[in-house]
Amino acid sequence: MDILDRAQVYETGERNAAVASVRAALPTGPSLAICANCEEPIPEGRREAMPGCTLCRECQEKLEAMR
Ligand SMILES: [Zn+2]
Repeated sequence: MDILDRAQVYETGERNAAVASVRAALPTGPSLAICANCEEPIPEGRREAMPGCTLCRECQEKLEAMR
């Protein structure tokens, strides 16, 4: 792994975290079919139960654990 690879990994991680936190902070809106953080599909049942959710259960739990 050269320095450009490392920079890209770092940058991608930073951006994903920033995007996920911004999206998760939005009150309501269309639920995403795909997790804003890990890009795993979000089950339809979860989207219906949590309108506006943008994270899969795993990422949501991680985000809440960080607070
Ligand atoms: Zn996720």
